[in-house]
Amino acid sequence: MNSSYGSTPRQSSYDAIIIGSGPNGLAAAVTLAEAGRSVLVLEAAATIGGGLRSSAWTLPGFLHDTCASIHALAPMSPFFQNLSPDRVPLEWVYPPLPCAHPLADGRAAVLSRSFAETASELGPDEQAWSRLFGPLVRDAGVLFPQVLGPLCFPRRPITMMKFALKAIRSAEAVARRFSGEEARALFAGMAAHSILPFHRAMSGGVGIMLALSAHVGGWPICRGGSQQVARRLADYAVSLGAEIVVNSPVRALEEIPNSRVVLLDVVPRTALRIVGDAWPARYRRRLQRFRHGIGVAKVDWALDGPIPWSNPLCAQAATVHVGGTFEEIAEAEAAPWRGTHVERPFVLLTQPSLFDPTRAPPGKHTAWGYCHVPGGAVESMTDRIEAQVERFAPGFRERILARRATSPPDWEGYNPNYVGGDITGGMMDLRQAFARPTHCWNPYATPNPRLFFCSSSTPPGPGVHGMCGHHAARTALRTRGRRLAVS
Ligand SMILES: Cc1cc2nc3c(=O)[nH]c(=O)nc-3n(C[C@H](O)[C@H](O)[C@H](O)COP(=O)(O)OP(=O)(O)OC[C@H]3O[C@@H](n4cnc5c(N)ncnc54)[C@H](O)[C@@H]3O)c2cc1C
Repeated sequence: MNSSYGSTPRQSSYDAIIIGSGPNGLAAAVTLAEAGRSVLVLEAAATIGGGLRSSAWTLPGFLHDTCASIHALAPMSPFFQNLSPDRVPLEWVYPPLPCAHPLADGRAAVLSRSFAETASELGPDEQAWSRLFGPLVRDAGVLFPQVLGPLCFPRRPITMMKFALKAIRSAEAVARRFSGEEARALFAGMAAHSILPFHRAMSGGVGIMLALSAHVGGWPICRGGSQQVARRLADYAVSLGAEIVVNSPVRALEEIPNSRVVLLDVVPRTALRIVGDAWPARYRRRLQRFRHGIGVAKVDWALDGPIPWSNPLCAQAATVHVGGTFEEIAEAEAAPWRGTHVERPFVLLTQPSLFDPTRAPPGKHTAWGYCHVPGGAVESMTDRIEAQVERFAPGFRERILARRATSPPDWEGYNPNYVGGDITGGMMDLRQAFARPTHCWNPYATPNPRLFFCSSSTPPGPGVHGMCGHHAARTALRTRGRRLAVS
């Protein structure tokens, strides 16, 4: 995959150096290279992509997305929308349903692309789902660019204010709109992506945004694995003259070639080590207060056949939320914050090979499932994750040919951005959703005019959307514009 990437920089100086080649580092590289700047990307690992890698993690012929698999945000992202499909050819595959949520007695709640269709299956909550999502779907063209954009005065202040009042709510508060088990469970699965306890502000807002992204854009996977997204972005940046060097961990600024600006696709903890006293002590102290959330324990499976879900609708979605009722999921999400492990975790499961035959040999399948655990925890969750899947898909275990389990410390070893297994680049509570990585007017700029943050530790935060990198690159071009100009 990396044959076209170098092992050492070719020049002694660049307009811009980007440390890290995750989706945000690559988006920054594309944005700067499109503006005609000379760009060098330095990646610590042997392969590019950060959270966008795919690998034969279990058996030869089985391609697993090691991290991101479901691209809920990329179709909504102005950065991806503005890429020419000729230059960055990506084959998004849309499963018939964005998400399914199995329940007891063979029932399932499903999230369709149409909010009205979703609502019509929710019995007593048909009206409530429509009332919540109908107006949001109508305003999505305003909401998504604003939510994924930099902090600024909104174009449609009243629409945004109404949305903000919903978005800051807790999952418990939002779920009070629903009375039936299906709608409450379906919403709980969405809210669990916030990785916050359900009484905390924003846990409901994240759930609303995710369900909305399914109603507006669908939740595609990328044919050939998420690595294709990284590869295509990198190839495009290289075609514009950018250089990418792998196996190149940066420990200190002094180690890297000269450059007018440096963009950091890393979390504050790593940035502090790299930058040292090139930042004033006061800013360093603020970054030290940046908080990470809980971790994840994940299992990747190579399977002898599709997962035998009791409810066949679960085979229509690449994402399946496995955890039962709202109350069960609320407890599963609260426990890791108390430092404990639950017997019945909420499992976020993907089964991409059902919709993309390139992921496994004919008739075989790949899937992964992860649950939230206390930060840094080493206790194995494999049995409990598999028991949850078995609960809604009897016979699942018999289909497992091979598995690979990953704990929070494994994640941190895999990518130093995953501190204690936190896959979100820092907790996304109300404060850190906006003051990210710290409170300042432009979160991408730092007190050193040469240095910029571009990772998911800046707004709009985690997920594959490239907007942190894109905004950081634009900030660098704006604030260092003249000095970045090619002579
Ligand atoms: C298990 C898992 C599942 C996920 N599922 C999804 C999903 O389905 N959908 C979704 O949208 N998102 C998902 N995510 C989240 C998503 O992957 C991240 O939010 C996204 O990758 C963050 O992008 P980034 O560019 O900020 O950082 P990263 O992707 O973390 O990339 C940072 C890069 O910097 C490199 N680096 C770090 N330190 C240094 C250094 N000192 N020198 C040089 N290089 C360095 C790292 O090796 C890495 O390649 C998932 C994440 C995980 C772990």
